[in-house]
Amino acid sequence: MYCADCGEKLYYGATNNGKREGAFFDCSLHWKHKDKCGTHFIRESVLERMVLKHIQLVMGYILRYRQHFIFVMEQQLQLESAEKLQTSRKQLERNERRIAELKRLFIKIYEDNAKGNLSDERYEMMSQNYEAEQKQLEAEVVALRQEIEVQERQNENIERFIRTADKYVDIEEIDPCMLRELIKAIYVEAPDKSSGKRRQKIHIQYDGIGFIPLEELAKKETA
Ligand SMILES: [Zn+2]
Repeated sequence: MYCADCGEKLYYGATNNGKREGAFFDCSLHWKHKDKCGTHFIRESVLERMVLKHIQLVMGYILRYRQHFIFVMEQQLQLESAEKLQTSRKQLERNERRIAELKRLFIKIYEDNAKGNLSDERYEMMSQNYEAEQKQLEAEVVALRQEIEVQERQNENIERFIRTADKYVDIEEIDPCMLRELIKAIYVEAPDKSSGKRRQKIHIQYDGIGFIPLEELAKKETA
């Protein structure tokens, strides 16, 4: 659990008698240096309720609008469309074919030169051109492979998250095992008292897929 403002871990504190009802979290930087970060005090019980509610909302959406959830998350993860992935794969294939062709051409001019059919000067020039083109293509191949791998992994991450989420569809209370499986980090904002009431927001970074845009998902709900 982290402070949403300074990024430091939250400090876990309990009241004098050590009872859990009094337990709370606050920004650890605030506890060390009051001037460097403000208070982010939140009761453990309040935080637990907020996290549970967040998870229940997410599970509810996945249960009812699975395809829409996947669609929104794919967009959020800036997943290239299947089309784009295909374009990358085709480009990769083209590059690999051309690299193989260049290798053959290189052998050919080497032989031509050896037989005396190609001047040394011309051979030198052509081989340099081929080599430059090959280097360029090989650099592109590395970049394309990485791009494709990232795209494929993001797809898997969404699928894996949904499979995990399916196990916790009906949760009624926080379970440590579930937290470990689903959540990577929780960021707690400073309390906002501008409205006269104390309000405090949290942001949950889910494992493998990051932040889930609940408002974006809610649009579907009200549509
Ligand atoms: Zn802080």
